[in-house]
Amino acid sequence: MTVTSTVSPALAPEREASLLASVPTGLLINGEWREASDGGTFDVHDPATGQVLATLASATSQDAVAALDAADGAQASWARTAPRVRSEILRRAFDLVTERAEDFALLMTLEMGKPLAEARGEVTYGAEFLRWFAEETVRDYGRYLTTPEGRNKILVQHKPVGPCLLITPWNFPLAMATRKVAPAVAAGCTMVLKPAKLTPLTGQYFAQTMLDAGLPPGVLNVVASSSASGISGPLLKDSRLRKISFTGSTPVGKRLMADAAQNVLRTSMELGGNAPFIVFEDADLDAAVEGAMAAKMRNMGEACTAANRFLVHETVAQEFTRKFAAAMGALTTGRGTEPATKVGPLIDAAARDDVHALVSAAVEAGAIAVTGGAPVDGPGYFYQPTVLANVPNNAAILGQEIFGPVAPVTTFSTEEEAVRLANSTEYGLASYLYSRDFNRLLRVAEQIEFGMVGFNAGVISNAAAPFGGVKQSGLGREGGTEGIAEYTTTQYIGINDPYAG
Ligand code: NAD
Repeated sequence: MTVTSTVSPALAPEREASLLASVPTGLLINGEWREASDGGTFDVHDPATGQVLATLASATSQDAVAALDAADGAQASWARTAPRVRSEILRRAFDLVTERAEDFALLMTLEMGKPLAEARGEVTYGAEFLRWFAEETVRDYGRYLTTPEGRNKILVQHKPVGPCLLITPWNFPLAMATRKVAPAVAAGCTMVLKPAKLTPLTGQYFAQTMLDAGLPPGVLNVVASSSASGISGPLLKDSRLRKISFTGSTPVGKRLMADAAQNVLRTSMELGGNAPFIVFEDADLDAAVEGAMAAKMRNMGEACTAANRFLVHETVAQEFTRKFAAAMGALTTGRGTEPATKVGPLIDAAARDDVHALVSAAVEAGAIAVTGGAPVDGPGYFYQPTVLANVPNNAAILGQEIFGPVAPVTTFSTEEEAVRLANSTEYGLASYLYSRDFNRLLRVAEQIEFGMVGFNAGVISNAAAPFGGVKQSGLGREGGTEGIAEYTTTQYIGINDPYAG
């Protein structure tokens, strides 16, 4: 694997082929890449062209159990490995991912479709979890104190929860993996990682990078598969598994929580969102438009944090919508490897068709497409950046994740109404508030039911911050000082104090 500078378009096909050829195609079990037990495979496609990029081994249930055998076998010695050693492996992994940033970025662009500039941003964001948790590894404090009546001592320590199943979605192939793997390594847990079948190449390349950084065999096992439930099914029934950390859609998360209940597993669930983006009448409208572009268009709108509902005060709605539509209409759509591309394809034909069905239903219900409103002809699964005005409050597009480059705008007249509309969803992940009045921002943040709130900011994800949702957006937090706690259990030791009176 090499360090490269930016890809010259003329060399791109050659460069793409040599990078793809360097990605491991097998299952990673106990430190070795191997074929699936039944020899099965599945193809990975480029959503900009529909072409096959690579063919990977498809893990069976038997392979999943072999991966858990390896994780279970490595757990005891990994838990005893000095925190400094685990920390330095993570730090080396950070350095290697950073050195290989162009490889990771190009791989994500190829398999997921996001423009290269965005893919580079994800490498920076994703790598930061490795550095952050390298630093957290050696600072996982317990406590020692005297009981209130003075006769005993209390010792509290954290221990690794044990072997974990990590399931990641297709939309952020590197960051969703590092956000789970890094805290698990920090805490001393072993893992079975199942990346999404639509974008598994980045996870394969990342797993090899973890091995290159010195991670011992069996600590991280990777089982890409065309059958997700064939992996999770047997593992959730196996009493050696102690935790599941899942990032994906709310319906799948609910099913996995129900299955995880059988073994009373620790669960972390990072699920869907329906983020409100509220623009108050005293907001800096140009800043709000800039923030709206970031909050809506990052990853072509295929993000759990994507602004899904634009709630704009009625006195500024027209001006905001005009400026926002002008900015959206000026974006260039194309394959992510093209330097001019600002908007890549959606992940597959079904995703594009779902987005268009939501837009068509909204337009039928009275919404106006100020810009966009249709799929783009030709190969690949492209959709026009779209702004919808006059969207009725009961339109389906406001009630569910759009997962595409479509921004529905609605209006409100009072702060109370904005809060009520923002909260009128079963989701509670990210939210965005624009106002020049800091007291108002704090007042509204107190009242809205979301795990994360941006004040005059369209992008809030950061490895040092606790990422996660409330209500049906999930349980648990990733990143921040909270992230490592998801992978530890607390043990209390009561000590008789012979010197106490
Ligand atoms: P998905 O739920 O379809 O799949 C997520 C992962 O679960 C994939 O690896 C998939 O193969 C696997 N999976 C699917 N069915 C399964 C089953 N029955 N048993 C076990 N595993 C199964 O979601 P997706 O389409 O990959 O990702 C998009 C969703 O993820 C959106 O809802 C988005 O909001 C959410 N998401 C949430 C966060 C967050 O941090 N809250 C981050 C990114 C994405």
